[in-house]
Amino acid sequence: MKEDKQKRALTGVLIVLFAASLFLLGFYPLRDSIIFIENKKSIALPNGWRVNETEIQQYLEQQLEFGYRIPGSNASEQLREYIKEIALGDITFQNFTYKETPITNIEISIGNTSSSKMLILGAHYDTRKIATNDVVPGPVPGANDGASGVAGLLAMMNIMTENPYFVELLEKFEIRFVFFDAEDQGGIDGWEWIVGSTYYANNLTISDVERSVAMILLDMVGDKDLELKKEINSDSAYKDQIWSIAENIGYSEYFTDKPGYRLIDDHVPFLNRGIRSVDLIDFDYSEWHKITDNLEHTSAPSIAIVANTVLAWILAEFLDIEVWELASSQISNSSSQISEIAQTSKLINEGKPEVWFYGMPLMLLVVLLFRKKHRT
Ligand SMILES: [Zn+2]
Repeated sequence: MKEDKQKRALTGVLIVLFAASLFLLGFYPLRDSIIFIENKKSIALPNGWRVNETEIQQYLEQQLEFGYRIPGSNASEQLREYIKEIALGDITFQNFTYKETPITNIEISIGNTSSSKMLILGAHYDTRKIATNDVVPGPVPGANDGASGVAGLLAMMNIMTENPYFVELLEKFEIRFVFFDAEDQGGIDGWEWIVGSTYYANNLTISDVERSVAMILLDMVGDKDLELKKEINSDSAYKDQIWSIAENIGYSEYFTDKPGYRLIDDHVPFLNRGIRSVDLIDFDYSEWHKITDNLEHTSAPSIAIVANTVLAWILAEFLDIEVWELASSQISNSSSQISEIAQTSKLINEGKPEVWFYGMPLMLLVVLLFRKKHRT
């Protein structure tokens, strides 16, 4: 009689504990995990890691306002001064002369400059002197071919320096934003292509080359109909990683698996020095080297897609921060919807450690009680 009562009491306790465990496993942790995540950085992409599209649009407009950024021109000088004003790190102008024209590469360095690891993000800022693909004579405004890469890099610089989640990255790496002059004058007046980047890469010290973990180039990333293909000369492993990250954050329609081109672009001089480099470029741009490469044919959201992907890849590759996976059924064209889904998905994924944190001790307790009951 006494034993039966004890058994019943124990069974009651077990049922209550089991129910409590289930409750905690099911509901409580998911709600609470929001707070948990805020204090825990290393699980998934943090809030606010995406670049600002309005900012990108402003950077585009500002560059176009200066006029044609032909090497040695006033507009080119004005753009350098503008970048100097808004730079959030140490800025250096690297000057040299090519065919009696002053050429200037711009370098902004942020993060830990004495680190053994350096990451280079590049774009060319010059615009083509003559629209050689156009029947109408005139220079190329270079909204996409020039301004898009610059705008993307500037927006990335802002995120990396302002967002607290990038603090760890800046402690461990030197990040260089390099804006190349004289990329786009090839074939005009006997000029070669990629003059600025060739000079820059060739003048990197051996130690800088050894420190360089990657060079990522943004070129013509502002096509309204954005479709990036894997450029052939680029580092294969990095390309695959970037494409898979793009897929994970809902951008697979923009990073396609169609065969890419083999291009002589600003990444090549870095590859020649043994630095793993990737050229992110949408080369199927109908206004390429035409006077219609203007704001009308350039999209800030497209630039943001590429910049966001590079940011996500950097976090995943160099800080081991996981990127959430979106269920294919949830992928949508709307970037705001993607962001919302990503948030939800992030919470659910990140709820898991929390669930076990609370649920496991209770389960253990249940097992212990069960064993004790059998011993008596
Ligand atoms: Zn070009």
